[in-house]
Amino acid sequence: MSTPAYDVVVVGGGIVGLATAHAVARTGRSVAVVEREPRLAEHQTGHNSNVIHSGLYYAPGGLKARLAVAGCAETVAFCREHDLPHEVCGKLVVATEADELPRMAELVRRGAANGVEVHELDRAGMRRHEPHVRGIAALHVPSTGVTDYRAIAEKLGELVGKEGGEVHLGRTVTRIVRRAADVVVRTSRGDLLGTQVVVCGGLRCDELAIASGADPGIRIVPFRGEYSGFSDRAAALVRGLIYPVPDPAFPFLGVHATRGIDGHVHAGPNAVLALAREGYSWGAISPGEFLSTVSYPGTLRIARRHWRYGFGEMRRSLSRKAMVKQIQRMLPDVAASDLHPAGAGVRAQAVKPDGTLVDDFLFVGQGSGEGSVLHVLNAPSPAATAALPIGREILERLTGDRIAPLGVSA
Ligand SMILES: Cc1cc2nc3c(=O)[nH]c(=O)nc-3n(C[C@H](O)[C@H](O)[C@H](O)COP(=O)(O)OP(=O)(O)OC[C@H]3O[C@@H](n4cnc5c(N)ncnc54)[C@H](O)[C@@H]3O)c2cc1C
Repeated sequence: MSTPAYDVVVVGGGIVGLATAHAVARTGRSVAVVEREPRLAEHQTGHNSNVIHSGLYYAPGGLKARLAVAGCAETVAFCREHDLPHEVCGKLVVATEADELPRMAELVRRGAANGVEVHELDRAGMRRHEPHVRGIAALHVPSTGVTDYRAIAEKLGELVGKEGGEVHLGRTVTRIVRRAADVVVRTSRGDLLGTQVVVCGGLRCDELAIASGADPGIRIVPFRGEYSGFSDRAAALVRGLIYPVPDPAFPFLGVHATRGIDGHVHAGPNAVLALAREGYSWGAISPGEFLSTVSYPGTLRIARRHWRYGFGEMRRSLSRKAMVKQIQRMLPDVAASDLHPAGAGVRAQAVKPDGTLVDDFLFVGQGSGEGSVLHVLNAPSPAATAALPIGREILERLTGDRIAPLGVSA
C-alpha cells in the first residue's frame, strides 16, 4: 500500500492545529491532522479559562496584538455561525493599590494602539458593573467574552472532515524527515507524506522541532495553572469577568474571577512549575521531564530572578487560605470555605536559555515551499482566541494565499 500523501500535514489536534488545517482545507488543498490523543483538544485547548480576549494587553505591533484583536471578532462570528456557546459579557480590570495605576494607564495606551474599546471607571462606575468588587479604579473592556474552546476545536475538526480533510486520532508523531519535494511524517501507526508540514504540538513543540532536525532555540517550560471553584454564595458576588492589573514581568494575567459560559464561577489560574509536561496536579510527575526542565539554564535563570514570586504561587497552590487572600484583594467577601479545587491546565511557555519568557507568538520555518516545515513554538494565551487568524497567517506563510476572515462581515 502506498504512503498516504497530502498537500499539508498538520501535527497537533489542538485549536491552533485545527484552525490551520481548516484554513488549508478552505483553499481546496488536501490536509491531514495527526493527533496523539484519542480525542481532540485534550491539552491546553481543553483546559483553559475559555475567555475570548479583546487584545488589550499585548505590545502594539506584535503578533499577539494583531491576531488577538482579529481573533476576538472572528471567534464570536464563528460561534454565531455554528451556534456554539458564547457570550460577549465584557470585563473589568481592577486596580486595588495606587502603585498599579501607572500600569493601568499603560493598558489604556495599549488598548488605544491596538484598536480595543476601553472605558476608564472610578469606584462608583466599577461598582455599577460589579457591585461586590473592591478597588480604587477599573477599566471596562466591552468586547471580552466567554466561550467553550473545546467545542470550537471539535467544530473545526468536523469542518476539516466535511471539506475533504482527514483527522487521525491516537497517532503519535515520532520523527519528521524533510526531503527535496516533500516531508515524511513518521507516526506510531505508519508514515504520512506532506508536501509541507505544520507542527502545532503545544507542550511538545520543542521536542517535535528537534525530531524534525531543527534547533528550536527555546525550551517549553510547563507552567500549571490551577482553578478554584466558587460556592453558590461566592458565585453570587460575581457578574462577569474580574481581572487584576497584570504584572508586566510575567506573560500571565494574574488570578481572575470568571463566570464561565456554563454559569459556574471560578478563580485562577495561578502559575506553578509543572512536574511533567502534562502535569495537571502535584501528583503527576515525570522524573525525566522534571529533571530536564529544572536543569535547563533558562529555568534556572527564571528561578533565580523570580524565586519570591514562585514560592508565593506554590504557597497559594498548596493552601486555600493563601489563595483566598489573593482573591480577597478584589472580592473581599469571598471566604476560604467558598473555594474548592476546579481543575487545572498546563501552559506551554517557551523560554530562552537566558531565562527570557518568550512573550509573542513564535513561528519558525525550516525551508520554504515543497519540503518545508513550519513550527509553532510559542502559542500561549491568547492563542485560543487568536487561533482562526493564526490559521490564516500560517496558510499565508506556507503558500502565499490570503483568505478572508470567517463570518466577520456576516
Ligand atoms: C490555564 C490556561 C488558561 C488559558 N486561558 C486562555 C483563555 O482564557 N483564552 C485564550 O485565548 N487562551 C487561553 N489559554 C491559552 C490557550 O489555551 C492556548 O494558547 C491554546 O489552546 C494553544 O493551542 P495549541 O493547539 O497550540 O495547543 P494544544 O491545545 O496544547 O494542542 C497541541 C496538541 O498537540 C498534540 N501533540 C503533542 N505532541 C504530539 C505528537 N508527538 N504527535 C501528535 N500530536 C501531538 C497534543 O496532544 C495536543 O492535542 C490558556 C492556557 C492555559 C494553560
